[in-house]
Amino acid sequence: MSEQLTLALSKGRIFTETLPLLAHAGIEPLDDPDSSRKLILDTNNADVKLVIIRASDVPTYVQYGAADLGVAGKDVLMEHGGEGLYEPLDLCIARCRLMVAGREPWSEQAQRLRIATKYVNSTRRYFAEQGQQVEIIKLYGSMELAPLVGLADLIVDVVDTGNTLKANGLRPLEKIADISSRLVVNKASMKRKHARVQRFIDQLAEAVRQQQEQVA
Ligand code: AMP
Repeated sequence: MSEQLTLALSKGRIFTETLPLLAHAGIEPLDDPDSSRKLILDTNNADVKLVIIRASDVPTYVQYGAADLGVAGKDVLMEHGGEGLYEPLDLCIARCRLMVAGREPWSEQAQRLRIATKYVNSTRRYFAEQGQQVEIIKLYGSMELAPLVGLADLIVDVVDTGNTLKANGLRPLEKIADISSRLVVNKASMKRKHARVQRFIDQLAEAVRQQQEQVA
């Protein structure tokens, strides 16, 4: 029997958009995570399992080798720091932007700004690079509410269409980074299971290439 591979994925957009790429590598899950409560999904390949976890936990599972590989948004990877991980492939899915947003342009304000975000590390790094002193307030969701109730002057969040910002009277002000999902690999797995992992990376890379050709 060939080597076991465990791939960490989150439910929702990343799972849905990763499925066609996995199918290209000959991997199909035997359960649907939206209807199943299972956290470990078998696939049609006896040697490949999927673990379904929170998006922000994917880098941690892969870092510690609980999964050999994972799919995580660049926003999550920037926040995690990427320790113990290789990031060999941009899957070009779940694209969005990490943005500073608010009601007013922040450059005109002199006081120490308060920024609400779940992206504490990326936010601290960004404003430090701008030479701007800010106070960061960690939130776990619904960041758009913070400026409306006076909790913060600005937010840092991922933006896709911008509709959520607009619906709450906010607008995108500064782009911190373009975001898409990346394949990440545990560094030890990359060595120990090199041939198997590399074959999987090559298959996904080919799937991404074909998908990009179709949209071009
Ligand atoms: P929007 O299309 O800008 O209204 O996006 C609405 C919300 O969906 C944002 O506040 C984000 O929390 C979330 N979102 C959109 N795109 C992504 C993505 N690629 N990854 C993670 N969250 C996203």
